[in-house]
Amino acid sequence: MQEDNSANLVPNRSIPEIGIKALQKLPANAPEPKPPSRAHELLRPWLELANLLPPPPLRNELKRLQNDLAGIMRLNQWEAECRKFPAAEIVRRFERSPLAQKAVIVDSLDLQLLRTDEEQAQSFLRLVPEIAFTLRTLIGAPSSEVLKKLGDMFLKRSYVNPATSRSEIWVHNGLLVTSFVDPYVDFLTALSGVELARVRQCGVCSQFFFALRKDQQACSKRCNATRRVRDWRVNQARHEYRRKLRASGLLKSKRTKRRRS
Ligand SMILES: [Zn+2]
Repeated sequence: MQEDNSANLVPNRSIPEIGIKALQKLPANAPEPKPPSRAHELLRPWLELANLLPPPPLRNELKRLQNDLAGIMRLNQWEAECRKFPAAEIVRRFERSPLAQKAVIVDSLDLQLLRTDEEQAQSFLRLVPEIAFTLRTLIGAPSSEVLKKLGDMFLKRSYVNPATSRSEIWVHNGLLVTSFVDPYVDFLTALSGVELARVRQCGVCSQFFFALRKDQQACSKRCNATRRVRDWRVNQARHEYRRKLRASGLLKSKRTKRRRS
């Protein structure tokens, strides 16, 4: 009676297994690695687009939360906040940003339609969070050392196309010409072959950025200056705290010990 019947409890057990195996396969055509400058050029407009939304919680904030569940809830809260962000506000921010002039974005998005068509503005509102959520997934991925050990790691799959895609049919000298424009596909194309570790979130302003230099820790010179001052203050406070502890005799430093002996 103790034999393992679990296989019988799941009907057609082999079918989902085959399905999972097929779905978990890495795409066959591995992308060419993009040099950092090229990756930066292609990806930056998409990062800026995601930055129009409220930024996701920082890693430090998530780390401070008591457990993983609290972290997941905090991320869900951010996602909900992005989803209910007013479409008109996103379009307004978009128009004001230098993004609206960038060829890569303008080719993908029909700006005229975005301004006049509520439905288009709504799908734009689905596209931008989807890009932000994807970038957040990348930032939340394990460190490069862990990834090196793992080899391949599956990060994200979407079944719904969030894009403001459009198709066009023309006739040119009697010949049919068709095109399908899909901003989300353009974003994925920009992302392909990009070194994961270079997609980052600025610890100062919380915005997404692409690290051109591997040791780059903030999105801009300005944020980096703030970061340096902040680090210096933290060090200073730590130093001061330890000094007080030592003065009150709660902490004995090696130096004082030596002096006393
Ligand atoms: Zn920043």
